[in-house]
Amino acid sequence: MTDKNTVIIIGAGLAGLFTALKLAPLNVKVISSKSLGSGTSSQWAQAGIAAAVGQNDSANLHKHDTISVGAGIVDEYAAGIMVEAGPNRINDLINLGVPFDKGSNNKLLLKKEAAHGINRIVSVNGDMTGKAIMKTLSETVKKSNHIDVIENFNAVELLKDQDGIFGVVIQSNLDNKKEQRLYSRNIIIATGGIGQLYEVTTNAIEAKGDGIAIAARIGADLSDLEFVQFHPTAFNIGIDPAPLATEALRGDGAKIINELNERFLLKTHQQAELAPRDIVSRAIFNEIKNGHKVYLDCRGELGKSMKKTFPTVYGFCKDNNINPENQAIPIAPAAHYHMGGISTDANGKTSINGLWACGESASTGVHGANRLASNSLLEAIVFGSIIAKNIKSLPNNTPVKNSEATTSKVVPINSKDLKILKSIMTRKVGVERNGEELDEAFNEILTLNQKYKKNNQINNTIITALLIIKSAIKRKEHRGSHYRSDFPETNSLLNNRSKITIKDII
Ligand SMILES: Cc1cc2nc3c(=O)[nH]c(=O)nc-3n(C[C@H](O)[C@H](O)[C@H](O)COP(=O)(O)OP(=O)(O)OC[C@H]3O[C@@H](n4cnc5c(N)ncnc54)[C@H](O)[C@@H]3O)c2cc1C
Repeated sequence: MTDKNTVIIIGAGLAGLFTALKLAPLNVKVISSKSLGSGTSSQWAQAGIAAAVGQNDSANLHKHDTISVGAGIVDEYAAGIMVEAGPNRINDLINLGVPFDKGSNNKLLLKKEAAHGINRIVSVNGDMTGKAIMKTLSETVKKSNHIDVIENFNAVELLKDQDGIFGVVIQSNLDNKKEQRLYSRNIIIATGGIGQLYEVTTNAIEAKGDGIAIAARIGADLSDLEFVQFHPTAFNIGIDPAPLATEALRGDGAKIINELNERFLLKTHQQAELAPRDIVSRAIFNEIKNGHKVYLDCRGELGKSMKKTFPTVYGFCKDNNINPENQAIPIAPAAHYHMGGISTDANGKTSINGLWACGESASTGVHGANRLASNSLLEAIVFGSIIAKNIKSLPNNTPVKNSEATTSKVVPINSKDLKILKSIMTRKVGVERNGEELDEAFNEILTLNQKYKKNNQINNTIITALLIIKSAIKRKEHRGSHYRSDFPETNSLLNNRSKITIKDII
């Protein structure tokens, strides 16, 4: 059993590990689905972290760009906190040993990304940022006496009494599915995103939105679940997670074609391949829905120089026997980032006493309806740090009475049902949605749920999917990443973040 002041963190990505380090000297138990350093989306992050560290930059400029992209519903207070704290958190990572790229003047090298008004992205080895950060943090965690990592376990249920949260049920991911209970009055959810609810995703296999379901099941508020950001050009070659074909390739002349060699985007937007991300994603989505195959065509000079100019993408091609010089790359839009999650205030607190959330599983409101590139790693470290500070300032916890709350049998989704769920989510709750198909999707996944219910089983993946669909049903407009073909205009009366609880789906 954990002692009364041990803090439990569910998830070992950037949000979980950074928060664990910041909690020193408190004892921390980190639950990790896989072995430390694997099973995270953080390790795949490429471009870097946005922070106002440049000479001509400021927190205000960064905040302005964040708000502009968020389609009218960014929580400006939370965004202000994030951008203000950015430079200090980058310093923390530098002090931990993250080797950010430097320019010839020995200052941080700052890159520019879409919708940033200024160069403000810090990175490692160009596109190896996530890997480098996770390596540094994992090594530091291993050496930290206050942190105990429980590997290959999934949190499946939270325990709550009249004083708030008091524990978590964890289940072994290995064959025996052994269960354990851990007790604490402070539990932080950092389980990452939901990309694995879709057929093509850039997210880690573990990103099934478990945190959302377990928090929802004890009554936590959730926000903005309808906002799922899709990346238009991921490799569609059956690899999970799907590698990204960076947007810069299109900037350098790559064309998007179908199997008939047609540049169908010419019919959609005057900028064709260089149209905004959501327009490109929707055009590809519809082409695939209409039975076509879609490719990124880099054949010729671009493909020839790719080894030098885009080594990561070239590496993916090579590993998968694609020669970009004379073969087009099969692509599809991929579920990439979830703006929604467990509602938190600017202190990282959820609506349940003692339950905190940070990283992609949280919804702080900083991203609104669309995320500004490279703000997600920043959000993870800023709010992780704030949570640690808050927990450390709390008086000693009220003892856990070791109450034996009843728990139901939580089971993982089986592979056949997951395939069905992914297909429904992709076709009906994906890049483009409409009321009729959303209702169908809800009912189809509800039917899937009946099978588990009949056996007295609970499935967290299904619950998260139902909550996302219900949120998408409720928002009858186009806003940011949420496109309703039956309500294609933005409605100024709906200029608010959304809220949902488990009661909305039962
Ligand atoms: C390909 C790619 C490129 C990206 N590039 C960038 C970028 O350049 N800049 C940027 O800011 N963002 C980027 N992002 C987004 C960013 O990487 C993520 O938003 C961020 O890493 C999320 O961190 P996290 O700690 O919240 O989640 P994760 O890193 O996904 O960690 C979640 C952890 O929770 C664990 N977990 C899940 N369920 C359970 C459970 N039930 N019990 C126990 N543990 C569980 C997982 O195994 C994992 O350890 C990118 C994402 C991808 C996929």
